[in-house]
Amino acid sequence: MTRTRMVVVGGDAAGMSAASQARRRRPAEDLAIVAFERGPHTSYSACGLPYYASGMVGDWERLVVRTPDQFAQQDIDARVRHQVEEIDLDAGRVRVQDLEQGRGFDEPWDVLVVATGSEPVRPPVPGLDLAGVYGLSILQDGLDLRRAVDAKPERAVVVGGGYIGLEAAEALIYRGIETALVAQSPEVMSTLDPDMGALVTRGLRDAGVEVYTGEKVEAVEGDGRVRAVRTAGRTLPADLVVLGIGTQPNVAIARQAGVALGPTGAIEVGPRMQTRHEGVWAAGDCAETRHLVSGGPVNYHLGTIANKQGRVCGINIGGGYATFPGALGTAVTQVWPVEVARTGLSEAELRPLGLEYETVTIDSTTRVSYFPGAAPIRIKVIAERRSGRLLGAQIVGKEGAAKRIDVFATALWNRMTVEDMINLDLSYAPPFSPVWDPVLIAVRKAAERIEATMADCR
Ligand SMILES: Cc1cc2nc3c(=O)[nH]c(=O)nc-3n(C[C@H](O)[C@H](O)[C@H](O)COP(=O)(O)OP(=O)(O)OC[C@H]3O[C@@H](n4cnc5c(N)ncnc54)[C@H](O)[C@@H]3O)c2cc1C
Repeated sequence: MTRTRMVVVGGDAAGMSAASQARRRRPAEDLAIVAFERGPHTSYSACGLPYYASGMVGDWERLVVRTPDQFAQQDIDARVRHQVEEIDLDAGRVRVQDLEQGRGFDEPWDVLVVATGSEPVRPPVPGLDLAGVYGLSILQDGLDLRRAVDAKPERAVVVGGGYIGLEAAEALIYRGIETALVAQSPEVMSTLDPDMGALVTRGLRDAGVEVYTGEKVEAVEGDGRVRAVRTAGRTLPADLVVLGIGTQPNVAIARQAGVALGPTGAIEVGPRMQTRHEGVWAAGDCAETRHLVSGGPVNYHLGTIANKQGRVCGINIGGGYATFPGALGTAVTQVWPVEVARTGLSEAELRPLGLEYETVTIDSTTRVSYFPGAAPIRIKVIAERRSGRLLGAQIVGKEGAAKRIDVFATALWNRMTVEDMINLDLSYAPPFSPVWDPVLIAVRKAAERIEATMADCR
């Protein structure tokens, strides 16, 4: 029997999920699996990096889910510090550089999985290479930032108001470091609409972060080592800077090889995660998917999606049948004590689609108002005009608020209307929610709004 040779590029969530799933279905005599990872670790939790940097998670090894030795027990040859430099689609081989030994070699494949993830955006701002400027992308970044934080800097500046910027700010404040955050958007968390983002901006300020929104960073200043961050409006002193400006799909080697990219700039894949090229698959942050509400192509950088896409890819390579139907961009984060969540489409994403919609925003509490620990929660619901189909939801609140987004994500998945949702049999007891859960209050109001607009149409 000829063994099929599977090569995986990228040894984290998507790549190693694909390898593990393929192995579960095909034994080593039938399928040889080699995974190349340029960093020193496989299968680590990037999501845990801010919590390691803050010291909330004490031991970085707990962020590593599976080591190369553990993969070896599954007959998966996971080689760290090996960078794939080139893909040859015609010859069916990759050019690999062993970063420890400093030697290059070719590895042939019958099946190739591109799972190269995403990389931080690096805008052309002078000073980003100064010592004391950190990114937060791979495990090593988390180790470096933790070391810098342990050295007790006095002042830090976070550049970027997305979830990585927010989580970095939370980590720095947790360590008692005076922290400022600069964001170019009018409010932080621009994946929410500005009315909900404003609540997060306020929450950040309440948590003790100096926040400057609508300001572009012009330069990071220093003399070998960072001293300050300059925007159009001010100069913020800094002993440490964390960049959280955004991420883009890491597709350089795929593009060079001629792998087809989609309109988002990520690798175009079909529902089974196969690319247009025979034997070539892609999964995770470097791959495109379909938005389940708009139907359009999207490229999310979320561990939830990367793991599922990797699984689907591996099942198919293993001879099974699985599809990844698409995503909603469901995401949660927090800047203690403020929790933030979103799913589906925001108003900003809906406007260019020409879909007409109604929005409602409600305020409630996470527990019955008389129960100790009842905390505020605000929910915004977006529903299609006339049909009442749920299009998106956003939540900002305190403890117990964010995970309610999963009810909306499930409803979106099932194409429910806000009217359908009113009678959902959600649980209730005073420590957990009011008798009308805030989710139900929000959809009830949304259904009333839809009904009122229907009356206007008659
Ligand atoms: C700080 C932070 C917090 C996050 N928090 C959350 C969260 O709370 N929830 C959530 O859903 N998502 C979160 N994410 C996103 C999540 O971590 C990613 O979506 C997920 O890791 C993507 O998995 P992936 O396998 O596609 O890519 P990656 O995890 O980026 O892995 C790709 C791997 O490929 C390797 N590689 C790249 N090019 C090559 C090459 N040429 N040769 C060899 N190896 C290569 C890289 O070194 C990398 O290890 C967070 C990300 C960060 C950075």
